[in-house]
Amino acid sequence: MIKMVGAIPIASLKRNLMQVRERIAAAAARVSRLPDTVKLVAIAKSVGVAEIKALMELGVTEIGESRAQDAKKKIMALGAAAGAHWHLVGHLQTNKADQAASLFQTIHSVDSIRVAQALHKEMRKLADQTKMSQPLRCLLEINVAGESSKFGLPPTVTEIAEILRVTNDLSALRIVGLMTMAPYVENDATVSRPIFQKLRELRDELNDQRCYSHPLIELSMGMSQDYWIAVEEGATLVRIGSALFEI
Ligand SMILES: *Cc1c(COP(=O)(O)O)cnc(C)c1O
Repeated sequence: MIKMVGAIPIASLKRNLMQVRERIAAAAARVSRLPDTVKLVAIAKSVGVAEIKALMELGVTEIGESRAQDAKKKIMALGAAAGAHWHLVGHLQTNKADQAASLFQTIHSVDSIRVAQALHKEMRKLADQTKMSQPLRCLLEINVAGESSKFGLPPTVTEIAEILRVTNDLSALRIVGLMTMAPYVENDATVSRPIFQKLRELRDELNDQRCYSHPLIELSMGMSQDYWIAVEEGATLVRIGSALFEI
């Protein structure tokens, strides 16, 4: 009998996870990076609680969702014992900032001063209620490819620096890096490389200019179609969904 987790045989899930980890390690080795400088964020938007639980039992601790509402249902169903680190990777509207601040530990999709201010305000409220005051980890989403269908700040140092200067004063947030999505091109991962290179250059330039109180460390880039290229170009967070859940 085939043991299933949700709609996927457990053997497939294990095999996929092993392949993804191996591919990350191989890409890191090609550019002399240590494999543990890259975190796998399992994007769970297409699966349910059973798959997330199984992944966590296999040692995955970073779970990503693209919508706060979906994450809420899954986090409640998993229970507090689960202990995962939750990442919001999809677009965030200011009117969902309260949910986002209470559910996620890292937000990859901050793309305006308004969203940053809304998150800061909600984090301050939560800190008053819970007496915990860890800053919320945030990344600025950058639309490197300039696709009109995508969210994100324009890829210019001046515009990103401006947001960083404002967020310096938002003590409940900690900007930890930059995030981007490469254009989707079926079976051609090469288009992603210049996008990822550009994101790394932007981060390095912003760090050189010291626009922000802390160095920007993280580069959230690479999905199922191109994560090994992202690792070669310096990704510290790869966001992988479908490659984990194929049957
Ligand atoms: C869905 C999603 C991913 C994962 O995409 P896959 O192609 O399934 O790996 C990564 N990042 C964001 C922002 C997403 O919405």
